[in-house]
Amino acid sequence: MQLDVAVVGGGPAGLCLASALADAGLEVAVLERQPLLALAEPADDGREIALTRASRERLERLGVWSRIDPGYIHPLRAARVMDGRGKRPMEIEAPGRGVLGHLVSNAQILRAAFDAASARPGVQIVNHADVQDIAVEGNGVRLHCAGELSLRVRLAVAADSRFSAMRRLLGIGARMRDFGRSMLVCRMAHEQPHRQEAWEWFGYGQTLALLPLWEGQSSVVLTLPHHLAQAMQDLPPDEFARAMQERFEHRLGAMHLLGERHLYPLVGTYARRFVATRCALVGDAAVGMHPVTAHGFNFGLQSAETLASHLRAARQSGRDIGSPHVLAAYEQAHRRATAPLYLATGLIASLYTDDRPPARLLRGALIGAARRLPPFRQLVAAHLMRHARIG
Ligand SMILES: Cc1cc2nc3c(=O)[nH]c(=O)nc-3n(C[C@H](O)[C@H](O)[C@H](O)COP(=O)(O)OP(=O)(O)OC[C@H]3O[C@@H](n4cnc5c(N)ncnc54)[C@H](O)[C@@H]3O)c2cc1C
Repeated sequence: MQLDVAVVGGGPAGLCLASALADAGLEVAVLERQPLLALAEPADDGREIALTRASRERLERLGVWSRIDPGYIHPLRAARVMDGRGKRPMEIEAPGRGVLGHLVSNAQILRAAFDAASARPGVQIVNHADVQDIAVEGNGVRLHCAGELSLRVRLAVAADSRFSAMRRLLGIGARMRDFGRSMLVCRMAHEQPHRQEAWEWFGYGQTLALLPLWEGQSSVVLTLPHHLAQAMQDLPPDEFARAMQERFEHRLGAMHLLGERHLYPLVGTYARRFVATRCALVGDAAVGMHPVTAHGFNFGLQSAETLASHLRAARQSGRDIGSPHVLAAYEQAHRRATAPLYLATGLIASLYTDDRPPARLLRGALIGAARRLPPFRQLVAAHLMRHARIG
């Protein structure tokens, strides 16, 4: 096969990138180690992804949004941030009757991204392709997969998760931060209405989040030290529901577990470089965010659009899409777009899981100050809704 770009990893970021590159006139192969069914009919993994308006617009441009069943798109009208005992929340509302963003499950996004990429003649999706080696070969790179498959392309892109094996093969290090906590996510039914409002409650000894889905149903996220999160996962469903009712201080009335519970250890990653000779990193392989600020896939989409726009411009002006100059421009733009929020997210996650008295004071003071500052709340709302620029 002689193709322009190989995207390693057919997760949501890799598939969206493949569609964007095909729209830029490039021939693309997506190399994914999982079987076809894992992309075409993905199993629910408990993740509800909060998408900004900019992400929705990106998904619309790629023909992904229209492929998501509207019954699975949930508007987010407001957000409530609480600290400690949750007495004086900071409320963030969308102006007018607008929305802050939308919640869509990771499985729905993946299925729609797979449909959109498969529908493009310029995209080939190769399953059972486990990339194991990569070597620069003249004005291209050769990728070797387990078994017989080998592929030469002008540019290879790693979209193979925050623990990217490609990144390691390329000799690119990453700042990794293990937060020493795990996130338990599941769907629950509850008596009290959620009014399409998300909650982020930095309690003492735990963090709770509520992501509103259908009427009387939400995705519930509980962050605890790993052994405690595991113990919650192991409880029988009825006991688990009672324990969650208590953790929410009965604010949602009676609660019932719907379906499976999923556990995610919290590790943030930030690649030291986003490019190497004829290679680039996108999605979580470049920036693996802590989910507290809900930006992992939003950044993944942004990386896909930014890289595709630089490659499109190179192709249109007859330049080599794998040249160091083109890749450096992508790297610079994506670093500028992500570094501040990556750092801020780490600080928020550390401060709001620190229960020592000085930290408690600071936590309360910060939320209190934010509550009294309408311009700050408007800024957060604008950020969530923002039309992020390509760098
Ligand atoms: C609990 C939780 C909540 C979240 N909430 C939000 C949110 O509200 N908003 C938001 O924007 N983000 C959120 N995220 C982050 C979001 O889920 C991720 O950023 C996104 O899924 C990453 O997509 P990706 O395509 O980069 O990587 P992945 O989804 O990890 O996909 C990587 C793909 O690469 C394949 N692969 C790996 N190695 C190889 C190899 N050697 N060869 C071939 N294929 C390979 C894998 O099989 C996989 O299909 C959340 C994450 C979690 C855990």
